[in-house]
Amino acid sequence: MNTAPILQIEDIHKDYGTYQALKGVSLSVRQGEFIALVGPSGCGKTTLLKQIAGFEDATSGRISIDGRDMAGVPAAQRPTSIVFQKLALFPHMTVAENIGFPLKLRKVVPAEIAARVNEMIALMELKPIYLDRLPRALSGGEQQRVALARSMISSPKLLLLDEPLSALDVKLKKVLQSELKRLHRSVGVTFVHVTHDLEEAMMLADRICVMRAGHILQLGEPADIYYRPADAFVAGFIGETNLLPVEITRRGKDRVEYRGTGIADETGAIPVRFIADQVGTGQALMNVRPELIRRIGPGDKAECSMNAQVTEIFTKGGTVQYRAHTPEGYDLAIEIQGTSDLPMRVGEDVRLGWAKKDIWVLPAGAA
Ligand code: ATP
Repeated sequence: MNTAPILQIEDIHKDYGTYQALKGVSLSVRQGEFIALVGPSGCGKTTLLKQIAGFEDATSGRISIDGRDMAGVPAAQRPTSIVFQKLALFPHMTVAENIGFPLKLRKVVPAEIAARVNEMIALMELKPIYLDRLPRALSGGEQQRVALARSMISSPKLLLLDEPLSALDVKLKKVLQSELKRLHRSVGVTFVHVTHDLEEAMMLADRICVMRAGHILQLGEPADIYYRPADAFVAGFIGETNLLPVEITRRGKDRVEYRGTGIADETGAIPVRFIADQVGTGQALMNVRPELIRRIGPGDKAECSMNAQVTEIFTKGGTVQYRAHTPEGYDLAIEIQGTSDLPMRVGEDVRLGWAKKDIWVLPAGAA
């Protein structure tokens, strides 16, 4: 993969009147990457896509695509294409006319348009008999494939996707998620994909960009975001987790010493590679994902452990989720494979343990 940035966003601000929707966003995307933009509603995801696509002018900052500054370049002349959640197919045009529309605008000759439309139909695995139909004679999933075909026909360098799958039912969504992944792999185009669905972001993206209130909080590979979140907000946003308050008493070169109320740990120390860089001495949070906590049987040991009483059980197909309350007042989430030979009952007193390698210590606050 060529690693030159195809998209370079430098310190973009976007104000709507007095409201600051983007407050200094910088992002560098490599050629051929699949980036997922996630964050709570209103954090600025769509606003960022609109600046990239050229639908709006940023208040300040710079966007370059393939090394070219996009200032003053209108949307139609940018090497980008966008697919929205709500279908924007032209209802009175056939599928073929819809797909070929961007080339018609560019005055490409009809024979070439027809050839490209056929290529797009094959790429999106749409049946050729659909070509003469109107969009309303297709299912929702097929219509979204047509929208994708139309967005790809002009060979964009960047495909911008604004929640294109969120209006589809769960089963169809799964199918189209695989289709998107396949499309991305086969065409080698760079994708920037806004989604509310974190599982979708984890499944599809090479890197996930977590936004909040007009800022990027973290950009990283899915496992980084999930297991090494930058702060408590990212940790909680990107899936269920346990955040236990700890006090870092000494930060050494190789390990940090800590105290955590109710946490039994013979060494009282954690290797520095499991500690976020911003954590100094003082208050911090120990992040442990529910699936990394296990029940400890009699005579069994764990590097860190806590006593708790089981309060709830939820069966989630292949796994079982438990809630347990500790004497210190913490509620822990534990997720165990359904085949676990140490099941727990509601009301039972249990000992829960986890390994140091499964810990990530992050700064206190900002949840
Ligand atoms: P969602 O996930 O709900 O789609 P989002 O992260 O995409 O949210 P944006 O659509 O980027 O959010 O909006 C960011 C903020 O900017 C919101 O608070 C929104 O109300 C505001 N905003 C967006 N467009 C305008 C506009 N044209 N005028 C004024 N405020 C706007």
